[in-house]
Amino acid sequence: MGVGTYLAISDRMQTKNWRKLLFCVVAANAADADFLPGLFVGDIGYFHHKESHGVGFFVIFALVVVLWIRFAQKKGDGLISAFTVASFLYFSHIVIDFFTFDKKVPYGLKFFWPFSNRFFVSPAPLFLEVLRGDFNILFGRHNLTAMAIELAVFLPAILAIRLLQRIGSQ
Ligand SMILES: [Zn+2]
Repeated sequence: MGVGTYLAISDRMQTKNWRKLLFCVVAANAADADFLPGLFVGDIGYFHHKESHGVGFFVIFALVVVLWIRFAQKKGDGLISAFTVASFLYFSHIVIDFFTFDKKVPYGLKFFWPFSNRFFVSPAPLFLEVLRGDFNILFGRHNLTAMAIELAVFLPAILAIRLLQRIGSQ
């Protein structure tokens, strides 16, 4: 998703594109940094799909991005677009997780945290969960199928955005 958004918004004439790519990839996967505190309690999945995948944490993330861009950049330009991209990617991550098949209890994520501590998942999942494990599992048939489904859903959208941009710039 991060790479896809980068491809949709990137302008070939601009320099420092790798920084934008990195920015997109980090924002798209930021919610899953919830694996990290799990390492300290000895259970990598302990915090997964909880507060970090709720709308409240999304707002906190967006505020942190605003502050970070404000202090990292001397001038304010790019603030709004970077903020839009970062919040779009973080939120789309949560939405994709909501539509992803989950075979582990509790199913889904705390989508409405802090308003509700209930776990929500789509009754009709669209995406397959990504299996974690050794090389054979990571790059096995299941994960490749999961990737193909995501590509099939998002690639047409990315191509459409690029096409519209090209038409718009003519
Ligand atoms: Zn996630």
